[in-house]
Amino acid sequence: MARRPIAGRLVIATHNPGKLAEMRDLLTIYGIAAISAGELGLAEPEETGATFGANARIKAEAAAKAANMPAFADDSGLAVDALDGDPGIYSARWAGPDKDFRFAMNKVQSLLIERGAKSAEKRRGHFVSALCVAWPDGHVEEFEATVDGTVVWPPRGTLGFGYDPLFLPDGQTRTFGEMSSEEKHGLPPLGRGLSHRARAFLKLAEACLAKR
Ligand code: IMP
Repeated sequence: MARRPIAGRLVIATHNPGKLAEMRDLLTIYGIAAISAGELGLAEPEETGATFGANARIKAEAAAKAANMPAFADDSGLAVDALDGDPGIYSARWAGPDKDFRFAMNKVQSLLIERGAKSAEKRRGHFVSALCVAWPDGHVEEFEATVDGTVVWPPRGTLGFGYDPLFLPDGQTRTFGEMSSEEKHGLPPLGRGLSHRARAFLKLAEACLAKR
């Protein structure tokens, strides 16, 4: 099916302020006005999918239907090889209702130690970002990207959010928690398109957004 261009206004189907700010910044460059699902008072659907892609689609389709306009959603998380891909689609849930990522990072570390994963090569993992844009008529566009790296301990840095302080991307000397938002998510030509979300967004921009 032909790619459908994205133009005008878009609902961002997230209630996560960190993600909203990132996505808004990325979309503004392309002249897209982003309204958040939170601002529109839309309910958050239950993420019942078995994959990042399925959950992104559930969120985008629910918001497109409720707002009657194109909606954009992402689903993302950290997949650790030695933990069979956990926390994976449960990345947010591991932090509990208080969104305590100190607790979630401790859980990752405890499980890695239980499995004897001490050396860097046993602590490989990747962040995944699945993006979906859904239109009220049922059309969807879907994209996915990853960034590989190592899970470090102790956590390093106070920038970013979620599991950022645990994650050292390949080829870098600083964790995501030690990088500014621009360094982590910045798009070429100014940025490096380093993060999973930046990489997935570049794919989306290439396919559906007018050139800057
Ligand atoms: P979602 O809102 O269901 O996509 O939850 C994704 C969760 O994965 C977030 O709450 C974070 O815990 C984690 N996560 C996703 N992307 C990142 C990132 O770029 N840095 C740190 N943690 C992330």
